[in-house]
Amino acid sequence: MTPPTLHRRFLEALPGDTETTTTPREVLGALWSRVQPTAVAAPELLAWSQPLAADLGLSDELMVDTETARVLGGNSLWPGMDPYAANYGGHQFGHWAGQLGDGRAIGLGELKRPDGELAELQLKGAGPTAYSRRGDGRAVLRSSIREFLCSEAMHALGVPTTRALSLVQTGDQVVRDMFYDGNAQEEPGAIVCRVAPSFLRFGNYQLLTARSDTSLLKKLADFTLEHWFPEFAGKGKEGYSAWLTEVAARTARLMAHWQAIGFVHGVLNTDNMSILGLTIDYGPYGWTDNFDLGWTPNTTDAQQHRYAFGDQPSIGLWNIARLGESLLPLFDGDETCIEAAATHYQKVYSETATKRFADKLGITFDADKDDGQLLQDLFDWLGKEETDMTLFFRSLAKVVVDDEPTSMPGTTQSSFYGTPTTTHLDTGIQWLQRWWQRTRQEADKPDAIATALDSTNPKFVLRNWLAQNAIDAAHKGDLSVLQRLLEVMWRPFDEQSEHDDLAQKRPEWARNKPGCSALSCSS
Ligand code: AMP
Ligand code: MG
Repeated sequence: MTPPTLHRRFLEALPGDTETTTTPREVLGALWSRVQPTAVAAPELLAWSQPLAADLGLSDELMVDTETARVLGGNSLWPGMDPYAANYGGHQFGHWAGQLGDGRAIGLGELKRPDGELAELQLKGAGPTAYSRRGDGRAVLRSSIREFLCSEAMHALGVPTTRALSLVQTGDQVVRDMFYDGNAQEEPGAIVCRVAPSFLRFGNYQLLTARSDTSLLKKLADFTLEHWFPEFAGKGKEGYSAWLTEVAARTARLMAHWQAIGFVHGVLNTDNMSILGLTIDYGPYGWTDNFDLGWTPNTTDAQQHRYAFGDQPSIGLWNIARLGESLLPLFDGDETCIEAAATHYQKVYSETATKRFADKLGITFDADKDDGQLLQDLFDWLGKEETDMTLFFRSLAKVVVDDEPTSMPGTTQSSFYGTPTTTHLDTGIQWLQRWWQRTRQEADKPDAIATALDSTNPKFVLRNWLAQNAIDAAHKGDLSVLQRLLEVMWRPFDEQSEHDDLAQKRPEWARNKPGCSALSCSS
């Protein structure tokens, strides 16, 4: 089996740290520090993404080779791999935190895909780096399963995201105090191999400006433009400004995507914001079961609710403003470049979210038909009494092909968590009637609308309790739950009736169970 040879453009083009120890330190004037993954006791491949491996040109045979498990577990390297940790900073929960960096992620280099594109591989949980501060550089199995599954589920939903190639159990134990309450416990360790065109974050640029290192900022920006935004390269201030505006647009579209499927990231710090507009760093994320704009899965954010579901779009904008400030030296201090990007963000968010939600209703948005009000009334109604967001939207394809509803249709009824009040039911039926009437003004026939609805409103999303079931089984050595979930999530819009049990609303036992409703950053 011939392993691929990796490239290392980031290391070749940009300055690195001269030290290679893992002693925690401030790293100045450098964008990365060379570091070897720390070998683990017994790397074992628990799961891998076949579709991603195929995209990367990695054969099934190579993926299941024991030597590959050693590489994906950090015990061996493929040719050309030159492992490093990236240096970046970030705003955490609204406050500038200074240097952070890859404390437990190690970049391995870039793989050339059959289509000629380069994809970077990165191990998460492969041991300490110069940026680990007081952390151990490791990740536990539960959080690795969550990142692995969700990366692939999001991709299948059409959401821009970093991918996950593999999930390797290390054979080592990792100590975590899951709820920061003094109950530290040993848990199995694991490593996910993440894949993305680039893992650059807003915080990579921010750190340089915070240190007044304009020359390195320019180098990093030029490197970014050359490889991922070539249309803006070599154009000076105008190009940098257009780039920020493009990052704003991508971020706005990403937020609109999340809102439309009920995904809550949980930790939208600027070090967790991808410069390419990808979903990155799956930690205490969650899916809102009942449509609740105020909900956050992250216990660390339980007081502030800074990163609650409904606030993600405005946080995206806040983060773009912080990125813009860090790029000011490239704009010759011209703040109107930030204002332009912010204005564009709002326009793109509003247009994209409107389009996404109109698609979820099977209508072509038309302000003259009062569609804005139709959407607003739905949001008001959905949030009033506990209603499952995914099930509600999925039910519309069934309702649209039926006669105009005169009572609450059975499929829609099943999206309620409790027994709805009569008032709530009446308002819901009136809304459904308005919506049903509105679909009759579309050029498409109800059958065609239903097909479009089913390809927009997923049947399967990675509900927190589903991931938790896969984790509980894996802890007992049973990987079948994880494998089944992975394969079902690859086709979230398909009926797959044999897997109806994975398309159920949150069961009562999961309402307050750790891992299902409350997740901490301890991972
Ligand atoms: P996160 O909130 O997971 O994005 O992490 C924020 C920062 O903490 C990043 O710089 C991470 O690399 C670092 N970090 C998180 N967990 C660990 C760990 N177990 N060991 C070392 N660094 C960590
Ligand atoms: Mg992070």
